[in-house]
Amino acid sequence: MNKSLRKTVIAGNWKMNKTATEAAALIEQLIPAVEGADCEVVICTPYTSLVTAVEKTKGTNIHVGAENVHFEKSGAYTGEISADMLVDLGVEYVITGHSERRQYFAETDETVNKRTKAALEAGLKAIVCVGESLAQREQGVTEELVRMQTKIALQNVSAEEMSRVIIAYEPVWAIGTGRTATAEQAQEVCAAIRKLLVELYGETVAQATTIQYGGSMNAGNADELLGKADVDGGLIGGASLKAADFGTIVKAASK
Ligand code: PEP
Repeated sequence: MNKSLRKTVIAGNWKMNKTATEAAALIEQLIPAVEGADCEVVICTPYTSLVTAVEKTKGTNIHVGAENVHFEKSGAYTGEISADMLVDLGVEYVITGHSERRQYFAETDETVNKRTKAALEAGLKAIVCVGESLAQREQGVTEELVRMQTKIALQNVSAEEMSRVIIAYEPVWAIGTGRTATAEQAQEVCAAIRKLLVELYGETVAQATTIQYGGSMNAGNADELLGKADVDGGLIGGASLKAADFGTIVKAASK
């Protein structure tokens, strides 16, 4: 394992929080909190805050992402947003397959794959989320499940496109619950994902791919989680809405 072969990425997922006005105020606080970081810093905001986020972060080390994207290029999909629309705004990243979308919006492994492909084809970087439910962990199928989700999400994604893919391992039982996976549990699954990437793309691509942990990562536990060999960053929900906490996580990732 060689962490120096890949980028450490800390990405905030703001979920359905902050008006555009509130987003501007939070970004003002985030800029000094993450200045000089030795890792990639991303904020994924609601669609309504993307223009503000792109404008406000110009000339800073903060990159902007969306939380979802539709898989068609254009057409009769009322309420949806295409990858080209995001690129046109100056957005760089997009989250695909977040468990809240799988749970509340009928997202499937197949639609996660379609969204990921559409994002990559448009030139975006995709943060592809996978992770097991509590029942699945208790049934002992975590590794098989995460392997399957990852494999389907990456169908027809080329080795070249993998340079713009981040995998976020997010156990569903740890998201927004305050219950974090232990650093050992996070490492075990992130390592299993990397092993799958070796099978799919070979050692070089697998070693170069960023694999994040997400699920109640916070200022207090980030250090230990990010210290693990295969944990190359974090996808942060709740704690990304507090500038000081997000700044502490970014500092932990910069070590
Ligand atoms: C997330 O939304 O991806 C997430 C990990 O949320 P939280 O950090 O609040 O658990």
